[in-house]
Amino acid sequence: MSQGGVIDGLEFARAGATRSGALDLAQLPRLAEAGCRAAELRYSLHGETSARGKPELHVEVAGMLTLECQRCLEALQVPIDVRIALELATSQEAIDAAEDDVDRVLAARSMPVAGLVEDEVILALPMVPMHERCTPAAEAGGTTRPAPFAALAGMLSGRAKH
Ligand SMILES: [Zn+2]
Repeated sequence: MSQGGVIDGLEFARAGATRSGALDLAQLPRLAEAGCRAAELRYSLHGETSARGKPELHVEVAGMLTLECQRCLEALQVPIDVRIALELATSQEAIDAAEDDVDRVLAARSMPVAGLVEDEVILALPMVPMHERCTPAAEAGGTTRPAPFAALAGMLSGRAKH
């Protein structure tokens, strides 16, 4: 188990390497800044060559985030269960030019694992996290606020929000 570190993306895929570990909020600064109060995530990364002969990273993340309900501002538990395959692209141009539904990330020699995991968690979060039913007392004083995670997801270049 490790808290993250970095991987050489193409080498990791070519070698069929795996890495797993746990992350908490201290390793997830963008989530923390967007109002996430606590995080307990387990991840596993697995590299492989796809059926199309492309290097891929398979990312699995499971756990729980404590966010702030955007209606009543009380704590909101959001379970995370992400499984995604990311094709490693060798240039941003290749990502921008692609017109299929394949999820791609830019390969680098030094890819921070916590950042990769954080990207996928951000993309998986609801645009506006809210309780299905807020407690009535809290709801009375609440106001709906802008969607912090939608803004974050919008900053992940070349990636569409799922
Ligand atoms: Zn609420």
